[in-house]
Amino acid sequence: MANVELTNVRKVYGSSVEAVKGINIAIDDGALCVLVGPSGCGKSTLLRMIAGLESITDGTVKIDNKLVNDLGPAERDIAMVFQNYALYPHMKVYDNMAYGLRNRGMPKDQIDKRVKDAAQILELTQLLERRPKELSGGQRQRVAMGRAIVRSPKVFLFDEPLSNLDAKLRGQMRVEIKNLQRQLGVTSVYVTHDQLEAMTLADILVVMNAGSVEQIGAPLDIYEKPASTFVASFIGAPPMNLVPVTADGSGLVLGDGTRIGAEGLVIPGNGALIGFRPEDLEVSAGTDTHAGGLALDLKVLGVEPVGAESYVYGMVGGERVVVRVPGRSTSQTEDHLRVIIPADKLHLFGTDGKRISSE
Ligand code: ADP
Repeated sequence: MANVELTNVRKVYGSSVEAVKGINIAIDDGALCVLVGPSGCGKSTLLRMIAGLESITDGTVKIDNKLVNDLGPAERDIAMVFQNYALYPHMKVYDNMAYGLRNRGMPKDQIDKRVKDAAQILELTQLLERRPKELSGGQRQRVAMGRAIVRSPKVFLFDEPLSNLDAKLRGQMRVEIKNLQRQLGVTSVYVTHDQLEAMTLADILVVMNAGSVEQIGAPLDIYEKPASTFVASFIGAPPMNLVPVTADGSGLVLGDGTRIGAEGLVIPGNGALIGFRPEDLEVSAGTDTHAGGLALDLKVLGVEPVGAESYVYGMVGGERVVVRVPGRSTSQTEDHLRVIIPADKLHLFGTDGKRISSE
């Protein structure tokens, strides 16, 4: 077990592609750190630098307080689980798991113990004699995990391990990986572009954008206080609504000229973006007061029932927004809704996209 510390880590491909722009992350011993961000933001590059599969242009990577910049993958005491888990098709499950250990010349009885222990943890004991083609997708994924576990590494590195699985299995495997990681207590770094996977797995969540860290923190802290409009839009589905607002002499004005009453809401001279999560709006009967909150008129465009709740799509101040309402309203008779954003659910961002701290 080990902590992982990245300090000012940079990667430049060729002479000009700066894929990772100076990243600092400290991962405690035993924690599961998830790197999330859109395709091309540099998360795989960062993971590969931790693994030793990619050279580090600048900065330092430490595993267990030891500088590993110049060590090869085999010397770093890490184990990787990939999206393409590439089991050897002609080998039995047992041999797939034992392969790496045999290559290192580990004595046979030790290998046997490690494979059997891992198989027990992963509930693969009954399947050790099968070949990969005789396994389900989830079982194959577990064998891939088994190959990593038998090495008892200091750190697990996961590169989108679930993206080849269908949605249901992905959900199951997510829970399995989380439980397994907890049980083994091995420090882990996990890359995904799926914000739901990231939210549910992470002890520490790192949201990346264009080679940089946008925000690091506990998943729910990030959800509740996104540091930027990028994070606000990336974490949460449907994403946070963002509506531009400016101030003139007599109050606040939305993009289409609508005036809104918002006592106590102070915005910068060059304007701001009001943010609100789809689930944080209250539909108003029209008569209630909204102490400190914000009341907005929503022009309804359509309603999408998704089961336990419905998404109401509409326009506010010329911007498309979505509201989640409980229940199965399949028809929307009104073409306007009065919605309230409670004061404590209102997010405010500057025109530079950075959160304006309400505290
Ligand atoms: P992600 O994993 O977030 O999708 P990557 O780390 O794969 O992103 O890539 C980050 C950036 O680096 C992208 O712009 C990508 O095109 C570039 N890149 C990745 N690998 C190489 C490479 N071997 N040579 C040049 N550019 C690369």
